[in-house]
Amino acid sequence: MFNYPITLPQLKIKNFTVIPGAELHTSKMGNGELWHILALGLNNKFTPPNQPNFLINNKSENIDSLSSRLFESGAFVSLTHPEWNGMALPDTLKVQEVHAIEIYNHSCSIECDRGSGVAVLDQILNQGKEINIIATDDSHFHINDAFGGWVMVKSDSNSKEAILEALKNGHYYSSQGPDFKNIKVQNGRLEVSCSPIEKIIVSGYGSASIYRDKSAMETAVFNLSLLPQKKWLRVTIIDKDGNRAWTNPIYDY
Ligand SMILES: [Zn+2]
Repeated sequence: MFNYPITLPQLKIKNFTVIPGAELHTSKMGNGELWHILALGLNNKFTPPNQPNFLINNKSENIDSLSSRLFESGAFVSLTHPEWNGMALPDTLKVQEVHAIEIYNHSCSIECDRGSGVAVLDQILNQGKEINIIATDDSHFHINDAFGGWVMVKSDSNSKEAILEALKNGHYYSSQGPDFKNIKVQNGRLEVSCSPIEKIIVSGYGSASIYRDKSAMETAVFNLSLLPQKKWLRVTIIDKDGNRAWTNPIYDY
């Protein structure tokens, strides 16, 4: 007996790993709307919250309980499309156990120009809470909304277990196109290697950031004394078509 209908057709592509997952919903955020939360590696025996038909149910499970149950079940858990449904910092601080928040949701970007998660992400980091980043398509296929956001995972094998472990450990980056080749932080310096891009931005606590632009740049070195608060940093690269890729936050530098 499955608690979740399987909607993915049988894939017959060799070496293609399918990881079951679902977006779950429960009541409710500070603005009165439903919480949406994503679980990859979802156990099909997991009991869903009592939240049928996308209707607000004031008796449904609170988000902290749901996210904790998902986290403890072994799923990779992420907060979805914060800009689209108006997720605010006080909402996110109610969630104790979560791996990541979407920095980009392709479908929300196309359909309502609310695809970013940067503002609430950086506020979470400024509060001292550690959280990773994820880019997704969220394709519903009502419009052309596939292949706009994804993650590249560093994993020893293509097995479901190894990929999930790498995701949970933050061994990945998020992208709309460009690729990171390497990121190295040592002795107050940050070295970035990547596919050819036009701009690199290193963002840090508050308003701190460092900017570099150069055509077809593939490497760059930054002096991190320009981010003096030493709380967190993250790197964004932008290619000639305006596509971005994002590292997960780095806390020790
Ligand atoms: Zn959603």
